[in-house]
Amino acid sequence: MSKNTRVKIGLEVHVQITSLRTKLFCSCPSNYRGKPPNSNVCPVCLGLPGALPVVNREAIREALKVALALNSKINKLLIFTRKHYFYPDLPKNYQISQYDGMGSLPIAKGGFIRIENDSLSKIVRIRRINIEEDPGRITYPTGSIVTSPYTLIDYNRSGVALLEIVTEPDLESPKEARIFISKLVSILEHLGVTNPELEGAVRVDANISIEGGERVEIKNIGSPKDVEKALQYEIARQSAIVKSGGSVNRETRHWDKGKGITVSSRAKELEEDYRYFPDPDLPPIPISSDLIDEVRSTLPELPGDRIKRLMSEYGLSKYLAHVVVIRSKLLADAFESAVRECGNASTIASILVNELLRWVDECGITIEEGLKRLTTKRICKLVRYLKEKKLSSKLIKEYIKKIITEDIDPDDLIGKGYVSIMDLEYLSNVIEEVFKENPKAVEDAKKNPKAINYLVGQVMKKTMGKADPQLTYELINKRLKENVC
Ligand code: ADP
Ligand code: MG
Ligand code: ZN
Repeated sequence: MSKNTRVKIGLEVHVQITSLRTKLFCSCPSNYRGKPPNSNVCPVCLGLPGALPVVNREAIREALKVALALNSKINKLLIFTRKHYFYPDLPKNYQISQYDGMGSLPIAKGGFIRIENDSLSKIVRIRRINIEEDPGRITYPTGSIVTSPYTLIDYNRSGVALLEIVTEPDLESPKEARIFISKLVSILEHLGVTNPELEGAVRVDANISIEGGERVEIKNIGSPKDVEKALQYEIARQSAIVKSGGSVNRETRHWDKGKGITVSSRAKELEEDYRYFPDPDLPPIPISSDLIDEVRSTLPELPGDRIKRLMSEYGLSKYLAHVVVIRSKLLADAFESAVRECGNASTIASILVNELLRWVDECGITIEEGLKRLTTKRICKLVRYLKEKKLSSKLIKEYIKKIITEDIDPDDLIGKGYVSIMDLEYLSNVIEEVFKENPKAVEDAKKNPKAINYLVGQVMKKTMGKADPQLTYELINKRLKENVC
C-alpha cells in the first residue's frame, strides 16, 4: 500500500451480553454453549406463531452502562424495530433490532473511544449503539457453504441479547481497527457486560473503502487479529483493482480465516429491503433519568483510568500497564491480586506479560485457563524463590512453562530439581551455600584438589542430582581460587 492511499474503516461490533441469565425476549438461559442442538429454546425464540416477546430489563441496564462508558447520548424512549430478511438462522424472518430513522431511535447515539499506543492517540467516534437479538447458528457439515450437501441449524443461540456498537469511519489502518476493538472489548469486560474469552461473544463486521471508492463490508470476523488481517487483505485487493483501472463495487464479503482471504458473498441489501418498522409487540419503553443516574452510579473503574492508576500506584511503564489492562481484565485482576499478596509489581507484571501471555498464545489456551494454573499463590512462590535466589531469572521461564502447560506447583519443580541444572546463576548460589555450610571441607579442598569431589557431592545432593557434575567441578575450582586471592 502506498503511503498516501486514503483508507477509511468503520466497524460494527456485535457483542453478546453474556452477563445476562436469560435471553433478550424470553426466559431461556442466555448461556447456550455446550448444549445439545435445539435444546435451549422456547416458542418465543423459535418464532412460533402467537408467541410474544417480553423485554429483559437487565439487558437495558447493561446497554445503558455501555452507553455511559462510551459517552453516548441516551435516547429517552427505547424502541425496538423489526429488520426483515429471509435466512434459516432467523426463525421469525425478522430480527428484533433497533433503527435510526423512520421515527425510531437506537438506545444511544454518538460518543467516542480514545485509542492509544506508543505512537498513536486518537478519538474514534461512535455512531450508535443498538440492542438486538442474536440469530441461530448455521453449520455446514463439511465445513463449507459451497461443498456441504446439507445445512444444520441450531436455535440455541437464537434470541441471545446482543449489543451492536457502530463507529464512524474514523479508523485509518487495519492496526488502528485492531487497537480499537481491543480497547472497546476491554471496556465491556470491565463493565462486566461480556466475557470476550467465550467463543463467538464478539463478532465484527468491518467496512472499508480506499481512495474515496465504494465501501466493502466484511462480515462476521471473530477476533481483533483477524479483523486486522482481513482489512490488510482487503486493502491489497482493492488497491490492485484501482491500480488496474477498475473500480471497487459495493458488496458484502466474508473472511475465510483458513485461506486468509475475503470472499464475495452477496450484493449488499439496500436499507429498503429490510422494511424496518417499529415492532408492534414491543411498545416503547421510557428510559428515565433516574434509571440513567442509578446505572451511572454503578459504573466501575474503566480501562483508561486503570492504566493510569497502575502506572502511578505500582510504577509500571505505560507499555506494561497498557498490556496488562487491555489484553484482558483477568490479567489486570491477577496482577493486582498478586501484588497485594507479595509486592514486587514489576517482576509480577513481567511474569504475566512476558511469560504467561507467551504460553497462552503458544498453547492456544485462554488467559482464564492459564491463570487457573499460574495462580496468585504460585506467582508469589516464584517471586519468593527469585528473591531467595533459589531460582534464576532464566530458570523461572522454564518453571512458568511447566506450570502453565502441565499444571505443576513450583514447589514440586524445586523439589524434583526440574531441568538439568546448567544454569550458572542458580548453580553458583548453591555452591555459595555449600561453601558456607562446609568451611572445613573448603579449607581441605584448597590444599588438596581431590577433596573438591566432596564439595561437588554436596552440590549434587542439594540439587537432587540435577547439577551438571563437570560444570559444578569447574565452578567450585574457580571459586576456591578466588578465595585464595
Ligand atoms: P449498513 O447497515 O449499511 O451496514 P451501518 O450504518 O450499519 O450501515 O454501518 C455503516 C458502517 O460503515 C459504519 O461503521 C460506518 O462507519 C462505515 N462506513 C460508512 N462509510 C464508509 C466508508 N466510506 N468507508 C468505510 N466505512 C464506512
Ligand atoms: Mg450493518
Ligand atoms: Zn426462548
